Amino acid sequence: MEVFLMNTIRFTNLPGDGIGPEVMSTALKVLEKTGKAYNFICETADHDVGGIGIDNHGEALPSSTLEACQSVDAILFGSVGGPKWESLPPKDQPERAALLPLRKAFELFANLRPGNLFPELADLSPLRSDVVSNGIDVLCVRELTGGIYFGQPKSTRTLEDGQKEAIDTMIYRTGEIERITEIAVKAAALRGNKICSVDKANVLETSVLWRQTVSECINRLDPSIELSHMYVDNAAMQLVRDPNQFDVLLTENMFGDILSDELAVICGSLGMLASASLGTGTNSSGHPFGLYEPAGGTAPDIAGKGLANPCAQVLSSALMLRYSFGLEDAALAIENAVKETIRSGLRTGDISQGEPSVGTAEMEEAILSRIA
Ligand code: NAD
Repeated sequence: MEVFLMNTIRFTNLPGDGIGPEVMSTALKVLEKTGKAYNFICETADHDVGGIGIDNHGEALPSSTLEACQSVDAILFGSVGGPKWESLPPKDQPERAALLPLRKAFELFANLRPGNLFPELADLSPLRSDVVSNGIDVLCVRELTGGIYFGQPKSTRTLEDGQKEAIDTMIYRTGEIERITEIAVKAAALRGNKICSVDKANVLETSVLWRQTVSECINRLDPSIELSHMYVDNAAMQLVRDPNQFDVLLTENMFGDILSDELAVICGSLGMLASASLGTGTNSSGHPFGLYEPAGGTAPDIAGKGLANPCAQVLSSALMLRYSFGLEDAALAIENAVKETIRSGLRTGDISQGEPSVGTAEMEEAILSRIA
């Protein structure tokens, strides 16, 4: 008798608020079905986070939720926030009070934002149709915990002449640059093996160090990677001129903040975009711990109506399989199921452009039916 050993993958799912629970439900079903085809079992439990955390436990990131996250290998996150909690002081708002502590607790230093536009949805892009007729497929790898957002000193003071002066400090150390480069190298190996590192080395000292360290690191880790360097102003322009000249864009925190949003916009719909934030060290399956979430928010305007596009959450779960569990074939199976569903013509309202649209349930059924 043949015995198949099933892999168990352990993650916490945090549906959050608004459409979060609706799209999370789809992602979990897709993962379960994928597990049957690709030989793994999901061990997962859901916990409150965000507005529902505030309502049920008095805080956006309840300690029970944080503890649950600490005992697993990855977090599948929905989204948090909504009108009900908008009058709270900024530091208590669900997004800030839940996501920032999670990033800190797990040292999530690497943010991966795939910019994917399927050719069938090319009309959603604000770019000219001849530029995006074949779709877009670019991965932005952004350093998330260093640079000007966190460097000290950071302050505002009043000068003797009465003017105010504000200071932010941009600092990068070689170790920070090396670890994000390693992530980009691993990601590039699963794609086109091409990295474009973005900096401002004609002006900034941190960028000179960035450029030099990235070059040395890639040379050491994988010289077969096609590496190029580009100034950030040019990269912002090239991204709208010809996005597909890029495979993996590697950059520091502030430049990545701007470029990844630019990439999201040219891809057309928030309902289709996933993201991953990876931490230091390895989890119990020998891969980076990660938090995986859709790029969009809680969409209060359509929450509870069964209209949400579940694709971004489903694609986030594929990223989790790829980066935190090393299950590349299963990740590809999910991505292909979403691709085929879009190819079949099925559209939720956010991507239908006024044509007849379907709800979350129909989209879910279509994706599930395409998991081999
Ligand atoms: P949003 O992304 O929630 O919505 C913007 C527009 O995109 C809306 O019209 C919405 O219906 C649509 N949309 C987004 N995701 C969709 C999906 N999956 N399917 C169909 N349509 C989708 O942004 P917003 O309106 O600025 O923010 C709403 C709430 O979400 C706020 O409280 C905000 O703080 C929160 N938010 C949370 C996160 C997060 O948890 N990471 C991120 C962004 C916004």
